[in-house]
Amino acid sequence: MLKTKDILDEKDKKLHQKSLPVVFPLSAEDKNIINEAIEYLKNSQIEELAEKYDLRPGMGLAAVQVGVLKRYFVVVHEYEPGEFKNYVLINPKIISNSVEKIYVETGEGCLSVNRDIDGIVPRYARVTLEAQDINGNKITVRGREELAVAFQHEMDHLDGIIFTDKIDKKNPYKDMDNMRPI
Ligand code: ZN
Repeated sequence: MLKTKDILDEKDKKLHQKSLPVVFPLSAEDKNIINEAIEYLKNSQIEELAEKYDLRPGMGLAAVQVGVLKRYFVVVHEYEPGEFKNYVLINPKIISNSVEKIYVETGEGCLSVNRDIDGIVPRYARVTLEAQDINGNKITVRGREELAVAFQHEMDHLDGIIFTDKIDKKNPYKDMDNMRPI
């Protein structure tokens, strides 16, 4: 079972490197990471389980966050209270995005960033991604609002970018008035 301590901290060099394309079929290790990530992310969003297993709540995890530099990530989205949908996106690409931009008002979070961060991260309000599923089949996935933010946050991990890199150092709330808070 994946634990919070198994997730790399932002100080780790790997988190600043680009991940490589996944070649199919998936390895046993990758399948295992995917299953463990789904379990972790879901449990971490259920308060009593998060407490029981001492899990930091999170919605998404990229392979690099457990030390594997491959282009895939998992997002578990609570779309209604107690209802979860899993997204496993392999070799994903953003193929379109809205003009409208949003930011998470309370600040974005990351299972690899264990400190308080001031500032906002500009994100598209809606994105469409093309990816492959665990069997290598092509899939198209759309996300809006917090799901769109999660997809963009995880896409960044695949390129070695952490959300803190996207906050303007001199003006952490730059362009805030041109974006919608969520
Ligand atoms: Zn993250």
